[in-house]
Amino acid sequence: MHRSPVVDAESFDRILSSMCTEPHPAAREAAERFLASNPGDPATYEEIAELETRAIDLLAGIVDHPDPRTADGYITSGGTEANVQAVRAARNRSDSDDPNVVAPESAHFSFTKAAELLDVELRTVPLDSNLRADTDAVSAAVDADTALVVGVAGSTEYGRVDPIPELSAIADDAGARMHVDAAWGGFVLPFTEHDWSFADAPIDTLTVDPHKFGRAVVPAGGLIARDSTTLDALAVETPYLETYSQATLTGTRSGAGVASAVAVMEELWPDGYRETARRCQRNADWLASELASRGYEVVAPTLPLVASSIPESTIEELRAAGWKISRTARGEVRVVCMPHVTREQLEAFLRDLDRI
Ligand SMILES: *Cc1c(COP(=O)(O)O)cnc(C)c1O
Repeated sequence: MHRSPVVDAESFDRILSSMCTEPHPAAREAAERFLASNPGDPATYEEIAELETRAIDLLAGIVDHPDPRTADGYITSGGTEANVQAVRAARNRSDSDDPNVVAPESAHFSFTKAAELLDVELRTVPLDSNLRADTDAVSAAVDADTALVVGVAGSTEYGRVDPIPELSAIADDAGARMHVDAAWGGFVLPFTEHDWSFADAPIDTLTVDPHKFGRAVVPAGGLIARDSTTLDALAVETPYLETYSQATLTGTRSGAGVASAVAVMEELWPDGYRETARRCQRNADWLASELASRGYEVVAPTLPLVASSIPESTIEELRAAGWKISRTARGEVRVVCMPHVTREQLEAFLRDLDRI
């Protein structure tokens, strides 16, 4: 039977490298109904604008915002835009002529883009032995010109969660804003004991992406703010729209992403996400112990992400066998146990590894 390249592109059979996953059927269906809508023009596309408000309400609940009435934010094109906008808002709110952002080395490369675009200095500081932001190094790096301190809740390479309350205290002492990047971890962390959310620390902004563990369609990222001051600091005037200002980075935006995020969050929060998070974590823990028992060095997973030192030549053969695997900067294989990754799939992966 002929299969179009589009169908092939959607097979998640051997994808162990992605932080995105198969969209939930409810997300897919909602996305299709709103393909031609534009939440960037809310006066014209009223229905999707209302859905975006609903999306922010739902996300505020997921990230434990203390007061849903003051929570603010919008559905971004992804974690990159949310992080860029968090830096931009902090810069715009800073009094410094030469603002800087302090972030751990584990911070996503979107902060490098933000610093370049916004002409702020990015000060990256080393990690501790557990691959989390080293709080002494962060304290040493902040000064009166620090506009923003960044903490990562679910780092891209190792799934680590920075000490968010301690980092927030350092930001507060320096008169800086506090941003948490939970782009990937945000739909898993509510079911863990980690301190990461608005309920755990006085953070200003947080990135959480429905298009990763949230199982929405791409593009659906999220920027959630403590109150309206963040979006106010981002707003520009919009002369020819019916609304007077716009805080988003992009103009025309995907209504499909917004609608899909609402549909899947209404379907899965909290029970469905809890069940998925636990299953993914069990898979990661299982894979880690299977790799360790074979003699491979493993970075113990704190979230559903396993990093392990597998020889270069083996990695090449696994790739030749069709496995999509990525590597950390240090060279470890990185297996992201997303919702589409099943135990059977991991067993097949290990069979190939053993054979090679
Ligand atoms: C994926 C990711 C991002 C970037 O998000 P995009 O949706 O790819 O733009 C930022 N931060 C973290 C921690 C991520 O995992």
